[in-house]
Amino acid sequence: MTRRRWIADQVTGDTAALVGDHAAHLARVLRAEVGQQFDIATGDEVRRGTITTISPDRVEFALDTKPCHRRRFKPSAAPRVTLALAIFKFDRMEWAMEKCTEIGVARIVPVIARRSDAHLVTAAVKRHERWQRIVRQAAEQSRRSAPPEISAPVKLKNLADAGVIGTGALRIVLAESLAGSEADDRLGEIVHSESSVDELALAVGPEGGWADPELSWLYETGWVGASLGDNILRAETAAIVATALALEALR
Ligand code: SAH
Repeated sequence: MTRRRWIADQVTGDTAALVGDHAAHLARVLRAEVGQQFDIATGDEVRRGTITTISPDRVEFALDTKPCHRRRFKPSAAPRVTLALAIFKFDRMEWAMEKCTEIGVARIVPVIARRSDAHLVTAAVKRHERWQRIVRQAAEQSRRSAPPEISAPVKLKNLADAGVIGTGALRIVLAESLAGSEADDRLGEIVHSESSVDELALAVGPEGGWADPELSWLYETGWVGASLGDNILRAETAAIVATALALEALR
């Protein structure tokens, strides 16, 4: 059986540690014992770790000197995909974050859109830690070497200035208004025809969709509209489908 993977919070030489709630999860919920072995992602490689000490907020591992998967762990040359995800109902939004992490998204930016519910926008600021926890667990589960970054919520119009999307990125807005249109604007085709991108940003609107002025502004500032087919998808479905299609088209 493959060993469960943990992404280390701290690494010093041949020792690694999980701290805080990350450690508590292993220590209390999973009832860790000294001597148990796991795969530990240390940033640039994965090494086998044996638990040496357990306290409620710290679990330490002695690391084997030989990395287990060095080859698979070279930083990948695949372009980075940033998901600019409008804020919508948290249960569904968090589900999208988890699934897009499994698929391989590099960064998630919660976006304040016109039709994002005002209460959710206020509450989003306090959700950062919870979101980090969700994507870290999903990253460990899917055997990634690192979780995606979660940015602070940003207003749509400040996306460019927030420094979270590279200036050379191919920026694509998933626009439900293009669903079923005749134009050659399917996401997969657009991404596929751009052979030399090294960063891709995907913007997905909230449950109520993008407001017309938002779409106009996105187009004016260089975002390219793309469709995901004839059917109107829920925001969380659109996020997952777009991430999967984009990563596949970039392979
Ligand atoms: N309430 C809106 C739909 C919003 S869907 C309506 O009835 O028209 C939420 C988001 O998912 C959209 O803003 C868009 O970013 C994305 N989306 C859903 N279906 C899509 C499609 N077929 N093509 C492109 N984007 C889509």
